[in-house]
Amino acid sequence: MSNQIQNIPIAKPWVGEAEAAASSRVILSGWLTQGPEIAAFEKDFATYVGAKHACAVSNCTTALHLALLAVGVQPGDEVITVSHSYIATANSIRYCGATPVFVDIEPQTYNINPILIEDVISDRTRAILVVHQIGMPCDLKAILAIARQHSLPVIEDAACAIGSEILWDGEWEKIGKPHGDIACFSFHPRKVITTGDGGMITTNNPDWDKQFRLWRQHGMSVPDTVRHGAKQVIFESYPMLGYNYRMTDVQAAIGREQLKRLPEIVAQRRYLAERYHQALADIPELKLPTEPTWARSNWQSYCVRLPARCDQRQVMQTMLDAGISTRRGIMCIHREPAYQQEGWSCGITEKPCQCKPSQCDRLIESEYAQDQAILLPLFYPMTEAQQDQVIRCLAVVV
Ligand SMILES: *Cc1c(COP(=O)(O)O)cnc(C)c1O
Repeated sequence: MSNQIQNIPIAKPWVGEAEAAASSRVILSGWLTQGPEIAAFEKDFATYVGAKHACAVSNCTTALHLALLAVGVQPGDEVITVSHSYIATANSIRYCGATPVFVDIEPQTYNINPILIEDVISDRTRAILVVHQIGMPCDLKAILAIARQHSLPVIEDAACAIGSEILWDGEWEKIGKPHGDIACFSFHPRKVITTGDGGMITTNNPDWDKQFRLWRQHGMSVPDTVRHGAKQVIFESYPMLGYNYRMTDVQAAIGREQLKRLPEIVAQRRYLAERYHQALADIPELKLPTEPTWARSNWQSYCVRLPARCDQRQVMQTMLDAGISTRRGIMCIHREPAYQQEGWSCGITEKPCQCKPSQCDRLIESEYAQDQAILLPLFYPMTEAQQDQVIRCLAVVV
């Protein structure tokens, strides 16, 4: 069996006995949701990123929905964001009845190009939703300068960016402090730490944090924990339309264990990314990802841009035949059927816009990135032998 191909997945969470024991402890405690584990996870998370408040929710998509609601996004509004992201980024804007206005990316970092933002600000713009794509911090300093000038709130889609850092006034700070107004995280297994599913909202605004807690639990005025311990009868009320966006205590207990592993996970991911950097630097015309001097990525994904001579699908298929999973570049939301006919804008106000529904001159770098880049396997338990296998295979096929 020594010749058998060892299959290498694109990602693999690091979970084990500690998470299993934590889940078991919660189940046996008899308190399974909105209980002490949620409160403890929120506290641990806020401490880790340096935020005043952290509110646990069911996933990052619901986190983004609540963040947009908190800053006042309403039907008919516009929210500036990127098309080059997971579809949930733009979906959350549409849940509010608002329109995502897509801005192109910088080809080196795959993040929003701050220079293009001002051009699409209109009197309907209500917020800017930026993404730290695949863990790489976006240029928050430049983005915030523009946002503040126009009195627009900034929400950070930090779904992939737990453990990433940004240089802020001479200090390395965690993404999620937050540097914008609100940051939203995901704990899906494809991200750097996981609770199965789950999300977190961080902010330094106590009113918004209170609001998140009401919204996530049906708009209920008195949480379970308060009624449970009360010596007097309490009747709750529902002062607003709420949602069920709760995280369970089982998930929160897993999350607390994952947070303990996080520094080691990030260190290892950075080590493996550096190893890719060294090993792939010599492949002609292969473009490696760049980390700005003010950013430290958690390398949630390692994205390389293929030489023009390569066919993306062919490269991916050859690698898959060799037992190596890859993914193509991050999607372009404006090209998906759910967005083709309506629901987005590239900021052109003159009608008619000359762009075809799924192809937009103004989003050309986003489209190139989707078509020319591939994501390579990178995960905490990846061995150097596995990584060498990926490197050798890529060197042969491109
Ligand atoms: C994964 C992801 C989301 C969605 O996160 P869920 O927890 O699955 O809802 C949103 N935005 C980005 C950029 C993501 O990568």
